[in-house]
Amino acid sequence: MRPEFLVCDEAVAALDVSIQAQVLNLFMDLRQDFNLTYLFISHDLGVVEHLSDRVLIMYLGRIVEEAPTEALFGDPNHPYTQALLAEVPRLEPGRRIFKPITGEIPSPINPPSGCHFHPRCPHAMDRCRVERPALRPIGPGRFSACHLNDEARG
Ligand code: SF4
Repeated sequence: MRPEFLVCDEAVAALDVSIQAQVLNLFMDLRQDFNLTYLFISHDLGVVEHLSDRVLIMYLGRIVEEAPTEALFGDPNHPYTQALLAEVPRLEPGRRIFKPITGEIPSPINPPSGCHFHPRCPHAMDRCRVERPALRPIGPGRFSACHLNDEARG
């Protein structure tokens, strides 16, 4: 069929880790050989970092951050992205203290007002409870939806 674009929704989530590595390598080889574009949907940030050129982070159905992979993993902007990356296991010497995101994921049927993340965000302000933050540019090829960026801009 020679597709140009593939949507891969949790394509390796159910696989054993050793098989997962083989399938990921196959994905990368096919991308190279057939000049493919993937929309790769995953909860596994290690896999996302390994495979992606650009990353979009979503929370309760909204895009909260978008950036080139290296920029996003090296310097996450949105508090939700920061919290997610803080929980990714890494091969580093020494003990790490994991800080889980507090609170439960709200119902997507009845999401919180304003910023959907405000009940769980350590930086939430009054404005966050009433005003939805827009996805705005924060740097070359980078976008984030957080009122903290307006505060920083003044
Ligand atoms: S808009 Fe407010 S609640 Fe939402 S992520 Fe930014 S600081 Fe936190």
